[in-house]
Formats: sequence, structure tokens, C-alpha cells
Amino acid sequence: MNDKNISKKIIYWYDNNRRFLPWRKKVSKKQKEYFTLVSEFMLQQTQVKTVIPYFINFIKTIPNLKTLSRVKNETLMRSWEGLGYYSRAKNLKKTAIKIIKDHNGRLPKSIDELKNLPGIGDYTSKAIMAIAFNKKIIPLDGNVERILKRVFYLRKEDEISKEYLNSKIHFFGSSSRASDYAQAIMEIGALVCKPNNPLCIKCPISFNCISFKKNDFTIKTKIKFNKTKYFEAQIYQDNDKYLLIRNNKFNFLKNMPIFPMNEVEKKKYKYSNNKKINIKLSNMDMKIILNKVYKLPNIKNKILLNRTQTKSIILPSFTKKIFSSISKI
Ligand code: SF4
Repeated sequence: MNDKNISKKIIYWYDNNRRFLPWRKKVSKKQKEYFTLVSEFMLQQTQVKTVIPYFINFIKTIPNLKTLSRVKNETLMRSWEGLGYYSRAKNLKKTAIKIIKDHNGRLPKSIDELKNLPGIGDYTSKAIMAIAFNKKIIPLDGNVERILKRVFYLRKEDEISKEYLNSKIHFFGSSSRASDYAQAIMEIGALVCKPNNPLCIKCPISFNCISFKKNDFTIKTKIKFNKTKYFEAQIYQDNDKYLLIRNNKFNFLKNMPIFPMNEVEKKKYKYSNNKKINIKLSNMDMKIILNKVYKLPNIKNKILLNRTQTKSIILPSFTKKIFSSISKI
């Protein structure tokens, strides 16, 4: 089957099966750029299902790029609260400010210029070029990767590198409806070529798929090792109030309120008799000793909160998890 037939089949499938997603709503070109920018930032590290309500709420509060460039940080964080990876929200605002200042309020139309904006890397710049500007580019997200691995039955370690997969992307050919086409391929990955139990019977490219012919759908993935690190958190309590500080010490959760803590040796963690909890961040397994202290230290910039007040301030789920463990100490 030639490229043209593959793209026809994929577009036909998309027209009949696509999900309604709020960022796919028909809007003006300018608004489409904004919707794409916001949704692509939110979709970095987060699944579509989770992003939908956040996107709807975000657009209600911050309806366009100009508003985003001027929004108060408090409102921005409120609109992002619960999505995690808060640096994305901060970068999104910085990007909006830069677009207003340097690009006349419109997203730049080249990969290089897009990559110069805060929080936009190779994948996001390609996704914006394809989705917002209808350029014939297919960004390699996890869904597209999975389809390629199965279509070509890629098994060897050197065949699952980004470079190799990108070299195989020509399989899909192209379509003049480039924006829909890129989304169609990602959508097939999400709805049909699922990680477990792919629905090949509904797949428009099953005819070209080696995994389908072999009836073997296992996926080779690179093994990712999370680092385990050990910490001791100080739970300072004064009556019903607990002490938090803004984090300017660790590279994760920068400037967010956290309990004061230090990294410690594994040995200290192992022999401590205090309560311990585990928290997973994207690239780190944290093992934390919770050390309760009843005398408040004399430190600057302290934030004192009781449990009720924790609901009125933006806290990362990391800090909320520790809060919920405290009652059991
Ligand atoms: S035929 Fe099956 S395994 Fe192959 S791409 Fe389609 S859904 Fe995936």
C-alpha cells in the first residue's frame, strides 16, 4: 500500500472516530494557537483524560494569550493546582509574555523560534507546528512511537531510539490536512493501538503491520531507573499550626511550600525509628523520615498553616501527602 492510501485511510478513520476534546473546538486561527499552546503544555507529562477538566477551567479563567501574559501568579497557580509539575505553568506565562513582547502576540511559525520560548522543547515545537499551523510534521509522542514499534516490529535496543523511530516516521506519508493528520495518528495510538490489547480489528493500518501479522504485540521499552533518595522532613508544630517554607534548596518543586527537609544518608534512614513515607516524583523515589518537633525554629519566610488553611493555599500534592501522613505520627 502506498503512502497516499495509508494517509487516506487514517484521515477517514479520524473523521469517523475522533474524540471531542475541548482544544479541538473550532475557533479563530489566533485562538487555535492559544488552545494548542495551553493544551500542549498541560499534556507534557499528563494524560488527556486528566487534562480535559483543567483545560476547560483554565480557558474560562484565562481566555487568551494577552490575559495569560498579565495574569497574577496566584490566579495562574490556582488554575493549575492539582495538575502537578508547576514549572510548566510558570513557563507558560513566561512564554506568553515573550510572544506578546517579541512576536506581536502571535506564536512564531518556526521550530527554532518556538524552541527559544520557555518550556518548549523539540516535541512541543513540532506539535505546535503541526496542530496550530497545519505543517506536514508528525511529532513523535508515546502513541506514535508505539504504532511504529508495532508496525515495523522493532525489537532491538538500537531500533527503539528516538533517532531511529524518527527515521521511520515517513511510513505515514503526509496529508494536506496536516493538523488533523498528526492528531489522527496520535489518536490511533491512544484509542486503537493501545499499550495492552490493541484493537487491530478497528485499525486502519493493520494491513501494513508486522506485529498484527505475527500476532505478537509486545513492546520493547527502554528501562528507566528512578533514583532512590533519602530525606528527613522536620514537622514543626505549634498548637494546631505546622511550619512550611518556600523551597529554594532542591531542584524539584521550586518555590513551592514544602516542609523543611534535608537529604540524608541511606544509613540514617534505615536506622531511624520515626515514621517513614515513600513519595514518587517523575524521576526520583523519595524515602522520607518524618521527624516531629514541637518548638518552632527562628527562620525567615516561614508559612504557618493549620489543616483548614491548607485548603486555601496552593500546595503541591507532595506537601499534601506529608500533611495527610502527619496525623498518623
Ligand atoms: S494493527 Fe494492531 S498492532 Fe498494528 S498498528 Fe494497528 S492496532 Fe497497532
